[in-house]
Amino acid sequence: MRISFYGAAREVTGSNILVEATGKQILLDCGIFQGNKFAEERNFAPFAYHPKEIDFVIVGHAHLDHTGRLPKLVKDGFKGRIYATAPTKELTRLVLEDSAKLAREEARRNNHPPLFSENDIDNLMELFESISYDESIEISPQVKLTFKNAGHILGSAITILDSGGKRLVYTSDLGNKPSELLEPPELILNASYVICESTYGGRTHEDPSRREQKLAEIINTTVFQNGVLLIPTFAIERTQELLHDIEHFCTINKCEKPTFYLDSPLAQKVTEVFEKYPEYLSGKIRRVHKDEDLSA
Ligand SMILES: [Zn+2]
Repeated sequence: MRISFYGAAREVTGSNILVEATGKQILLDCGIFQGNKFAEERNFAPFAYHPKEIDFVIVGHAHLDHTGRLPKLVKDGFKGRIYATAPTKELTRLVLEDSAKLAREEARRNNHPPLFSENDIDNLMELFESISYDESIEISPQVKLTFKNAGHILGSAITILDSGGKRLVYTSDLGNKPSELLEPPELILNASYVICESTYGGRTHEDPSRREQKLAEIINTTVFQNGVLLIPTFAIERTQELLHDIEHFCTINKCEKPTFYLDSPLAQKVTEVFEKYPEYLSGKIRRVHKDEDLSA
């Protein structure tokens, strides 16, 4: 196995790793660089390898810094197969469509062609093949792929590649437990090589129970004052967590749920994907919603 890093090394965006095994070229993620003007320019640069010669792409999860250069990869000649879980496939389309609109506006402003178009996304989506957690498939003779739950966002997967007696584990982004919506990342007990993200590795996160309490206090104060509360939030995972936290808080405290508006077409579409794939949610959430369905 030969492993080359073309993004998210000494930085935290642009995830893109090339694995060469038994004569096959396999890409792990193909994200955009984010953060400043220089980073954006790097997205337009030619790939350091020949997209035509790549056999497979494996996508760990749908965030743009892991998927945003996939349409360019296809535009530049990639014709192989792309493996991801079913929710990752659907969320990738939503995230890219949203980003294509912004890319078009930005291109007009800067007088250059956009990084990709809606048409490029359609071409890309035809190459996807969905596999589930714990399912193992031979993507080529002597290369076996298995996905395990990464607990980061809906459908996020740890990639395990077995080839020639070696096992490569790529975490993509890992979840921060405990999460109400997802099961925690799965433990992988053996590996020859591990490629692991470390974005928040040096940071201590706030206790999530404290977070819910803070939110409850702010909602209570706002309702008491007949006010309006605006909460800016990411469209994937954070919005759905927030909706769940508000619901949970009102159920526990037997209080009337305040009227709330989800003012984001992307977040609404993403929430529909959550509803479509309950098998990717935590057992706890599935039980709560089953009970609600039964009592409805
Ligand atoms: Zn991510």
